[in-house]
Amino acid sequence: MLIISDDPLAKRLRIRRFKTSKRMRLRIDEKGILLTAPVWISDKEIHCFFMEHRDWVEKQLMLMDEKMSVFSLRTDGEQRFFLVEGTWNLVEERDQSVDWVQIRYENNKLVVLYPSLLRSRGDLEIRLKEWIKEQTIQKSKDFIELNKDRIVVLPNRIRISSAKSKWGSCTSKGVVSLHYRLFQLPPLALQYVLCHELAHLVHMNHGSLFWEEVRRLMPNYKEGNEKLLQRDFPRNGSL
Ligand SMILES: [Zn+2]
Repeated sequence: MLIISDDPLAKRLRIRRFKTSKRMRLRIDEKGILLTAPVWISDKEIHCFFMEHRDWVEKQLMLMDEKMSVFSLRTDGEQRFFLVEGTWNLVEERDQSVDWVQIRYENNKLVVLYPSLLRSRGDLEIRLKEWIKEQTIQKSKDFIELNKDRIVVLPNRIRISSAKSKWGSCTSKGVVSLHYRLFQLPPLALQYVLCHELAHLVHMNHGSLFWEEVRRLMPNYKEGNEKLLQRDFPRNGSL
């Protein structure tokens, strides 16, 4: 598939052919553009289909990049900022006599401490990502510990996800998945997603009993939901 290789958008395009696919479809996700097509479709038809939808694709990619960048490191001159619990924090990197890389979060400031003997500091963004994953899990566990007497079904496991369209989900086996960026949102938003999933462990639907359970776990859940809706990422951010 080389017909559109000189188009800059083509670099972000992945093409997958499926036996089960009946027509061509375009989708935008965090990795770029995904075009799925039936196996019998020719390269030329794919090319035409892509060119027909090129404007739409370009616009959607721009929107996706904007949403993603809200959660990434923001640079302002020499200074760098990172979104944590709904507020932007100045990032300060220091060499210190610590045994391993540590991140401390205090008064709108994120201090990243590096052991003095470290040869390379590595990618700051990757370190911050690892840290927010841990924090998302930790905050959820703290909430569960604090409220364990009120929770009807305790989850068997909490795992981190980077789902493209979901802030949270759960399985009938009691595994709750939470998007790793939840710690970047205001605390009420994280709490709401967690309570939503905990309520699903009791009611696997969105019926009135389910919402009653959400309200019982978190009386101000609507406020949490509002905070969540302010950040339209991941795509559609369903629960
Ligand atoms: Zn749900």
